[in-house]
Amino acid sequence: MSVWAILVAAGRGERLGSDQPKAFAKLGELPLLAEPLRRLDESDWVDAVVVVAPPGWEEPAILLAEELGCAKVRACVAGGETRAASVRNGLAEVADDAAVVLVHDAARPLLADDVIERVLAPLAEGWDGVVPGLPVADTLKRVGVDGGVGETVPRDGLWAVQTPQAFPADTLRRAVACGGDATDCAGLVEAAGGRVKVVPGDPLLLKVTTLDDLARIASLL
Ligand code: C5P
Repeated sequence: MSVWAILVAAGRGERLGSDQPKAFAKLGELPLLAEPLRRLDESDWVDAVVVVAPPGWEEPAILLAEELGCAKVRACVAGGETRAASVRNGLAEVADDAAVVLVHDAARPLLADDVIERVLAPLAEGWDGVVPGLPVADTLKRVGVDGGVGETVPRDGLWAVQTPQAFPADTLRRAVACGGDATDCAGLVEAAGGRVKVVPGDPLLLKVTTLDDLARIASLL
């Protein structure tokens, strides 16, 4: 079974307040992209990697992969306007005979091998997708623009979903071909009628959104 990973790194990262895209913001000495790329490349579960870089940053991404000695990188392509468009561009580079596609956000650098194992295992049971998630622990409120609480949302059964997300390659191809948009790939598969399973995620799979997140993750490295 060949597993291809698509590392989506084409977000602009406007909330970081830098002129560089988020994937090239510094995490320690290296660009943020380096950490998840190295971890995917080193994983025994992953056979090949496609990097989706910010438009115009394909060459620096390839050079970084070479510098890190990432031997599994098969292609580096430019991303699109939305995350779904970036996934579509990456998927076009995945080999026709790939069995499974794993999609991971470069913005979640602390990727552990056991999470990859957890999302891959249930695919054998016939699921159309498997995602890591954590049950929501905080009380949830919908808040208006004036800061006033609109309602308290019951949190029963609510999970915060992370990446990497795993799919049979053909299932993801069909879902992406539908042309919809969603904040994660599972959303595309669900919209196409697929059954998606949630497995325990990892509290360390924090997503970099602000400079504070970068500092926190750097301290965890
Ligand atoms: O914007 P958000 O934080 O949800 O992005 C999640 C991941 O998707 C990030 O790794 C980001 O680089 C990627 N992304 C992308 N192309 C876009 C938007 C986001 O590759 N157009």
